[in-house]
Amino acid sequence: MSADDREQGHRTRMQRKKAVVDAAIARADQDKGLLLVLTGNGKGKSSSAFGMLARALGHGLRVGVAQFIKGRSDTGEEAFFRAQPGVVWHVLGEGFTWETQNLERDRETARRAWAVAREMFSDPSLALIVLDELSYPLKNGWLDLPVVLADLAARPAMQHVVITGRGAPDALCEAADTVSELRDVKHAFRAGIRAQKGVDL
Ligand code: ATP
Ligand code: MG
Repeated sequence: MSADDREQGHRTRMQRKKAVVDAAIARADQDKGLLLVLTGNGKGKSSSAFGMLARALGHGLRVGVAQFIKGRSDTGEEAFFRAQPGVVWHVLGEGFTWETQNLERDRETARRAWAVAREMFSDPSLALIVLDELSYPLKNGWLDLPVVLADLAARPAMQHVVITGRGAPDALCEAADTVSELRDVKHAFRAGIRAQKGVDL
């Protein structure tokens, strides 16, 4: 086969592929406030959610964040996003269970945090809301999953919600429009490297 034949064969295959891709794009003609779940043990859940936050802000949209577990307020993402107009940011956690060591307080913290999330749903001007590490209060049973699902379903029709955290419950994934599971292939922490600014916090 000559180089010309190969070139022609490639062009024909790409034309066919483009027709298939274009048709698929043309079929997706609906708009909707999406529910996204980013779960799994690999790194990249919260940082992906914050990437979407940046995209939304780039379009001039208003956004909200509720951090359900994190008690620290010294992350790069918080410093950066709080300085942008159109950002509502709540740090609602008190740390992981092994830090708080108080079950009743963890439940109470989760309930208060959910009330704040509901407040954000009631503001349709918030185009995208990140509920960071919501999976933990759900899988630990501190929040009532059917109530959370009902509140999510009742939010404004065009409002996007991104939920992060390991071990997202099946019912939440079923309710979601988009679900990604990050797989832990390797993590520098296990080689003794502490959290690095700009990468991990
Ligand atoms: P990131 O915020 O970096 O996207 P994440 O949201 O996917 O991480 P979390 O479980 O929230 O993961 O972990 C937060 C912190 O723990 C980050 O500093 C992250 O780098 C680190 N981390 C994430 N996955 C792992 C892992 N498999 N082993 C060790 N540390 C991890
Ligand atoms: Mg995270």
